[in-house]
Amino acid sequence: MQRYRNYIGGEFRESESGGRIPVIEPATGQEFSTIPDSTPEDVASAVSAASEQKEWSSIGGEARSRVLNRIAEGIEARLEELALLESCDNGKPVHVARSVDIPRSARNFRFFASAAVQFGSDAYANGDTVNYSINHPLGVVGCISPWNLPLYLFTWKIAPALAAGNSVVAKPSEITPATASVLAEICSEAGLPAGCLNIVHGYGHTVGDAITGHPDVKAISFTGSTATGRLIAAKAAAAFKKVSLEMGGKNPVLIFDDCDFDRMIETTIRSSFSNQGEICLCGSRIYIQRPIYEKFKTEFVKRTRRLTVGDPRDDTSDLGAIVSADHLDKVQRYVELAKTEGGAVLTGGSRILPEGRCSGGWFFGPTIIEGLPNDCRTNQEEIFGPVVTIAPFDTESEALAMANESAYGLASVIWTNDVSRAHRLASRINSGIVWINCWMVRDLRTPFGGVRESGLGREGGYHAMRFFTEPKNVCLKIYDDE
Ligand code: NAD
Repeated sequence: MQRYRNYIGGEFRESESGGRIPVIEPATGQEFSTIPDSTPEDVASAVSAASEQKEWSSIGGEARSRVLNRIAEGIEARLEELALLESCDNGKPVHVARSVDIPRSARNFRFFASAAVQFGSDAYANGDTVNYSINHPLGVVGCISPWNLPLYLFTWKIAPALAAGNSVVAKPSEITPATASVLAEICSEAGLPAGCLNIVHGYGHTVGDAITGHPDVKAISFTGSTATGRLIAAKAAAAFKKVSLEMGGKNPVLIFDDCDFDRMIETTIRSSFSNQGEICLCGSRIYIQRPIYEKFKTEFVKRTRRLTVGDPRDDTSDLGAIVSADHLDKVQRYVELAKTEGGAVLTGGSRILPEGRCSGGWFFGPTIIEGLPNDCRTNQEEIFGPVVTIAPFDTESEALAMANESAYGLASVIWTNDVSRAHRLASRINSGIVWINCWMVRDLRTPFGGVRESGLGREGGYHAMRFFTEPKNVCLKIYDDE
């Protein structure tokens, strides 16, 4: 059994409280590790260690870039170990962690290693004046991340924060803390100076809240639920802190009858059920133009029934376990709710009980529901599991209205070969990200984030570098004294 510790000031430390939080492997229901039940005092120690770190902000982008590249190499060197740990914590198939989560975590560090040397600032020459800006790091920043893509999202925040010259106090989800702990070892071995990265384990209402409320933490980068984002926004507003909030979603998929059916159906299976549907970008409301509705429904149900749900260590498992007993319960409750709202379950809809090693695990069959009104709770609230709804539409404007009838606005997917329609819809749909004839294709330079209750601010590329810096404008007047 692993016993993880906090990482503060370059040292692995127990919490001041001495308390421990058990971490359960979703695939077995068994305790797998423990983490410190840290307190606001631990957060204060981490902020103090981060504040004392002065070297990192002054060594320059090239030196920071070298360290960040070494961290990327360290992640790659421990690929197998990290992939297994990610799966033990989260329940996702090991092959998914090996091919998606862990490589992307290394890529986050490599990408921002490059940004550290590329990120520049503005200068404006205007007659006898020159204005230029200096991008100062903020100082100590807080990074708080969720359980669904643990190392992937943790590093997506930490890498730009470090690249920009800040010191970080970070909190991984208490449900999936393992890979963050290994990252601390990797950073230490890569030569990241003590105090640059501090990791405090524990619950959100204690550790997360203390990071948000600490007066020396200048900005909070958060990914998680809208409910938590709202709490963080309120607390940070009182202290005028910068916040970047990546929150929930209920993403629409619009499928027109002129689309490339084969590409669409293959991708829609992935956009519905990858990572057990536990990706904020998964499409959960699928709208299909009526002429191909029956064909889509038949093929989609057939392919979904072919998906294998089982032991995450088995390479043939398409879906692993749901992250926690509470979350499984939530998913089940939504399926029951859908039935009371008039929905028909076409496939899935119930728990799966494997035999052997995973007999105590939390597995749920990929589920398709039809026949629901667009404004019902099942279609309006985030389920964040392997559950999608399907509904027909007739016209483009009807599809757009259904897609936009949502409090959320993270991502949307449009399938059509009509290029005018694709652009028209892309400009009218209410989401921060629009994929046309694809899904989850990521260029790390692009602005990443949502609108409405899905997000505030943007991550990615220079958007993240700007978030983690404060520009200071310097105006110089040139006198013609010759
Ligand atoms: P969550 O909000 O419960 O927890 C996220 C993190 O916040 C955890 O580390 C948690 O401990 C911490 N936290 C909880 N309460 C806190 C508080 N009061 N103050 C500070 N921190 C606190 O979310 P979750 O259940 O871990 O993750 C699932 C959610 O994340 C879903 O809603 C999903 O859509 C969202 N998500 C969004 C994105 C995106 O990019 N928009 C990406 C992944 C996940």
